[in-house]
Amino acid sequence: MSKTAKPEDAAAGDASKAKVSTEQLIIIGSGPAGYTAAIYAARAGLRPLVLAGAVTAGGALMNTTEVENFPGFPEGVQGPELMDGLQQQAEKFGAQVVFDDATSVQLKGHLKRVATGGGETYEAPAIILATGSAYKELGLAEEKKFSGHGVSWCATCDGFFFRDQDIIVVGGGDSAMEEATFLTRFGKSVTVVVRKDELRASRIMAQRAKDNPKIRFAWNSAVTAIHGDGKVTGVTLTDTVTGETRHQDATGIFVAIGHLPRTDLVAGQVDLDEEGYIKVDSPTTVTNLSGVFACGDAVDHRYRQAITAAGTGCAAALDAERYLAALEDADSIATALVEEPSHA
Ligand code: NDP
Repeated sequence: MSKTAKPEDAAAGDASKAKVSTEQLIIIGSGPAGYTAAIYAARAGLRPLVLAGAVTAGGALMNTTEVENFPGFPEGVQGPELMDGLQQQAEKFGAQVVFDDATSVQLKGHLKRVATGGGETYEAPAIILATGSAYKELGLAEEKKFSGHGVSWCATCDGFFFRDQDIIVVGGGDSAMEEATFLTRFGKSVTVVVRKDELRASRIMAQRAKDNPKIRFAWNSAVTAIHGDGKVTGVTLTDTVTGETRHQDATGIFVAIGHLPRTDLVAGQVDLDEEGYIKVDSPTTVTNLSGVFACGDAVDHRYRQAITAAGTGCAAALDAERYLAALEDADSIATALVEEPSHA
């Protein structure tokens, strides 16, 4: 179990009166990156503490249906099932999974400290940031107002509520194709609103959506207003080439326009790039702060796949393990040097 110690200062949040649990390694995040880091670190005997999130445990794949491209599952696997398996595998080797949110961190100095929404404080000489990414929003004033009343970011969670209704999906990437295809199970019609005249989605997913008789595409179009009275009734679509506007009836709007890195927690401490992703010394997971490693979608602009997140999670655990081993070696040498004179 964790050693407990009195804090010397209130480094993270209001930790002045709380007890601090001292760990070897803290992992923030429980998507494919966080859990893979936990599996590797646990197998290395580090007993990592995983702050899995109070309501977001399992990360983005918890809102995905079939994952067809994760190696080793020829028939595909449901996102939540995959995440459950990763959690169990990490726990089997001794990872401590805590369903709590990291609410503040202190990443500088020898011991990194994390305070949680549940009122706990943890510290460790090494930390892995695997905080993932969040859904991008359109930025319309009505978007928040109608969230849960017709506007959604998760077809798997909310599609059921739109049986026999007219649905709009915004976006032209794989997420939009996946959401649109899934929503045809429920909706009377699904219109995919794409701001260009081409899709960014992979060929196979684009073709699947194009072949679906319930899906149609509104090309060169942007949703510029959402209308309704308590619940969504329609949108204004603006032609991105001519600027002309038109109304389209819809009771469900699913926004699938990509993601933003979830790095607010660490901003101002660890170096971020101009888009807010954590900078690492690629191909390693080393950040600008010693003992702080980062992996998964919080780092990755380019690939953003479950398997690439898992791969960098593995790398982060190996980097952290080597860092901790080097610290231990340095401690042993320092102890030996201090003890040396008394033996002389
Ligand atoms: P992407 O970044 O790939 O695509 C985002 C899409 O939304 C683009 O078409 C983009 O348009 C559009 N867009 C962005 N901002 C706006 C805006 N403000 N208004 C209107 N449209 C906007 O994100 P995804 O979430 O689709 O995919 C992310 C990654 O996850 C990809 O690598 C993808 O392959 C992967 N993925 C894989 C899946 C699978 O294999 N099962 C399922 C889902 C995702 P534009 O092209 O004009 O920039």
